Amino acid sequence: MFATLQDKLDSVFKKLRGQGVMTEDNIKEALREVRLALLEADVNFKVVKDFVEKVRSRSVGTEVLQSLAPGQQVIKIVHDELVLLMGGGEDNSLDLAAKPPVSIMMVGLQGAGKTTSCGKLARYLKSQRRKPLMVPADVYRPAAIEQLKTLGRQLSIEVFDSSSDQKPVDICANAIRYATLNGFDTVILDTAGRHQIDDYLMDELDAIKRAVEPREILFVADAMTGQEAVNVASGFNDRLDITGVILTKLDGDAKGGAALSIKAVTGKPVKFVGLGEKLDALDVFHADRLVSRILG
Ligand code: GDP
Repeated sequence: MFATLQDKLDSVFKKLRGQGVMTEDNIKEALREVRLALLEADVNFKVVKDFVEKVRSRSVGTEVLQSLAPGQQVIKIVHDELVLLMGGGEDNSLDLAAKPPVSIMMVGLQGAGKTTSCGKLARYLKSQRRKPLMVPADVYRPAAIEQLKTLGRQLSIEVFDSSSDQKPVDICANAIRYATLNGFDTVILDTAGRHQIDDYLMDELDAIKRAVEPREILFVADAMTGQEAVNVASGFNDRLDITGVILTKLDGDAKGGAALSIKAVTGKPVKFVGLGEKLDALDVFHADRLVSRILG
């Protein structure tokens, strides 16, 4: 993962490490390469611009020029700013402290990994001693209901009974009532996706949001789609005011641009990352760990 970005930054940093004395010129040269490396890794253009400007203004101070190992300092500044960019140091845990049942609404485009992530999240919450109920509310793709039921059986986690002739908003409202009556403390709603954002879908998701007032609206983003994931995240955030992001398929050869840009563009934290098709392949997101992996 992130092999290209890692290699590119590695060679920039190798040059920097060799620099005894830094001048504004060689900082400028290094930052040009950092900028190129980020753009090639599919990081959003505006995010790169702001990022490089921040690193430049911190690097070109006397602090760096008078230091014994200025190259190392620039590397540290890049590291720190990348962590900040991805929301490092901020609280990105799920907000489930309200009176149960609390609900988590999963949204995103078709194929992003929503249904799989519902299963992974339910498994994670069960391991945290919560009692989750999974709710299939994608009535347009009948296979989605079956898919969630199969995951429920594998995980021994109950799946709310719904059918494709019901209205999604009714399914969700009924599921909350059912959860209240049956002692479930967390309700995970698997909503419909489309191949692209459309008004009909957004109106439906908005109606579900108003009916169930979820504590969390998690946008599921496919890291493999790079820039597109960032644009789609913005679209969903504008309409639904999402609370966080699950970034899937980071086990593939995603270039990392989406991971680096989503927080910066939407202002919403990445809360989890998906690292495979299996149900245990979900990690809580740690910006500093990801940055250390990228920078080596
Ligand atoms: P949905 O349409 O958004 O509900 O997407 P699905 O949950 O059906 O997932 C679409 C495909 O992506 C399936 O083949 C999943 O196994 C796969 N998938 C989901 N998450 C991940 C992940 O983190 N890594 C990998 N490699 N595949 C994933």
